[in-house]
Formats: sequence, C-alpha cells, structure tokens
Amino acid sequence: MNFEQVTALKKLLSSSKRIAIVPHKNPDGDAIGSTLALSHYLSKKGHETQVLAPNDFPKFLKWMPGATEILNFERHNTEVKKYIENADLIFTLDFNDFGRVGQMAECLENASAQFIMVDHHQQPSDYADITYSDVTMSSTCEMVYTLIDAMGDRDLIDSDIANCLYTGIMTDTGSFKFKATTSKTHRIVAELMDKGADNTAIHEKVYDTNSPSRLHLLGCALKNMVILEEFNTAYITLTQEELDRYDYEKGDTEGFVNYGLTLNNIRFAVIFIENKDEGIFKISFRSVGDFSVNEFARNHFEGGGHTNAAGGKSEKSLQETIDYFISLLPNYKKELTA
Ligand code: 5GP
Ligand code: MN
Repeated sequence: MNFEQVTALKKLLSSSKRIAIVPHKNPDGDAIGSTLALSHYLSKKGHETQVLAPNDFPKFLKWMPGATEILNFERHNTEVKKYIENADLIFTLDFNDFGRVGQMAECLENASAQFIMVDHHQQPSDYADITYSDVTMSSTCEMVYTLIDAMGDRDLIDSDIANCLYTGIMTDTGSFKFKATTSKTHRIVAELMDKGADNTAIHEKVYDTNSPSRLHLLGCALKNMVILEEFNTAYITLTQEELDRYDYEKGDTEGFVNYGLTLNNIRFAVIFIENKDEGIFKISFRSVGDFSVNEFARNHFEGGGHTNAAGGKSEKSLQETIDYFISLLPNYKKELTA
C-alpha cells in the first residue's frame, strides 16, 4: 500500500461505521482467511463489520475463527442485501471484478457505499475508490497483513487474525511452494506463528480431514485423467453423475487439478467439473513456467486468475468442451513444448 492509499483508507475509516467485507464466489482458504482476518482487525478498531459471501464454503474451512458468523447471499439473501444497502464501506477481497461474485453482483453494483479492493489477481476492474492491487503478492492474506502493517497496527494482530492469515497464505501458496512465495512471505508467516498461528493444527484441519468418499472421488478423477504428451498437457473430467456417486460435498475437488502437474514434463493441467445446477462445467487451469493460464482462461473460457492458476467455465456439453479445448492446443504448442 502506498502512502496516499493509507491516508485515503484512514480517512474513509474515520467516517465509516458499518463495513461489509466480501470474498469471491466459491470462496477458498485465501478468500475466507483474508475476509475474516480483516473483519477481526476492523472490529478491534471499533467498526461494525460483517463478512458477506456469495455462497457457502467448504467444511475444511468452517473451523476458522468467525467462520460461523459469515452470512451467505444464497442462504441469507434478504439480510445480505440489507447489510450492503446500509453499509458505509465495502471491502472486496481476493477478486477484482464483480463478475466473480455471481448473483450478488447486482447488489454490489447498486450499493451506495465506497469500495476498497484488496486483491492479487491480474487485470483489476475499475470499480473501487481505493484499488489495492498487487499481482506479485502470494495471497490476499499477505496483502491484508501488509495493510495492517501500513496502518501501523501490527500490535493488533492476535491469534485469531494470525490463524486466519496463516491459513490463506498456506492454501494460496500450495503450502509455501509456489513462485509467488518470497522470503517476505516467510517472514510474515514467522511473525504470524509468534502471534499464535498454530501451523501444525491448521495443516491438519485443512488437509487431513478427508472423508473416504472424497479419496474415492480422487481415485475416479485420476482414472479419468487424459495425458496429451504432444502438448505436455494433462486433463481430468468429472461429471455430475460421478460427483453424485461419491457423495460430493463442496470443496471435495479442491487440489485435484494439481495432480496433473506432478507428472514428469507436464506443464499444463486442467480439470473440468460438471455443475448440473448451474448448467456449466467449471474449469481450473494450472501451469508451470511462462505459459499464462490467465490469458488462456480469459480468451477462451470466460475466466481469468493468475499466470499459473486460473479458472473459467463452459456452457457446452462435456464432449464439445473437450473438443474445443483440444482444438486450441496447437495454437500454444510452442509455449507448451519449448
Ligand atoms: P481455482 O481453479 O482454484 O478455482 O481458481 C484458480 C484461480 O483463478 C483463483 O485465484 C481464482 O480466484 C481464479 N478464478 C477461478 N475461477 C475464475 C473465473 O471464473 N474467473 C476469474 N476471473 N478468475 C477465476
Ligand atoms: Mn487468493
């Protein structure tokens, strides 16, 4: 955060009572961690805050301090609308375009509050009064830490805030291994541990609470994997029928796409997951090296994200989606095989 942004933020906070804090749809560890951490921080500073999510989030994040107080737009529609209507300030965290909050977009578009964006994805839209956007950051949680630091408030980081921030940094960095993980990230994480982040417990609660059916679903996904050696690409498909067969619950497919990248020479991994309710295949893209899945998702699948991790969707049938996907690969052969 630069000096002008900190000054502007202090000014906005000085006259704001009701603050809404919004993560993206299908919130992940970084989205939930950053919104809860910011909410804890701002309430310590005397504000009335409320985290308002577009929809529900996975069970493996429900233990987080404050998670049970989150209202979600699908379930608490009237309350969420009312809170947004009456809010003085709205923080949007871990996304940078209203297209990322699904049905809740209209509500945000009509809000009279001022907006503050805190986000690390590429190509931010221009909706916020303060746009704190930094694509070099490992996670939005690292940015929330940096915001608190810039406000001169590191002393206010307690164990709840530390646990929330640690969780988001851990999940968004693939447990501190992705390229955006810097020595500064590690210094921040060290400080969070000093302030009470229980690293072993967090890893266990997020990664070691599988149900047997989730592991069976993973087995199904891995069996379905197709390897396109010519393009150093691997993709997985999961139909609604397969999800139902293994008692799919929200969050069960988290991380499946990464298995493709564990194959020798594979640089591009994709998973297509059917969502019958929404009539779409939700797609996750991952890459290693310079191949930008953000551009790929943006150009062909109505999505976006980061250079090495992005998402998108397809409204076509599975076969048509896969045929279309495969038809695109020759255009990228050079980048994928160089
Ligand atoms: P995931 O594949 O884990 O859902 O998402 C990977 C990254 O891409 C995340 O940073 C996520 O916020 C972003 N992302 C996922 N789906 C979409 C999408 O439909 N549109 C955009 N713009 N970003 C997405
Ligand atoms: Mn993130």
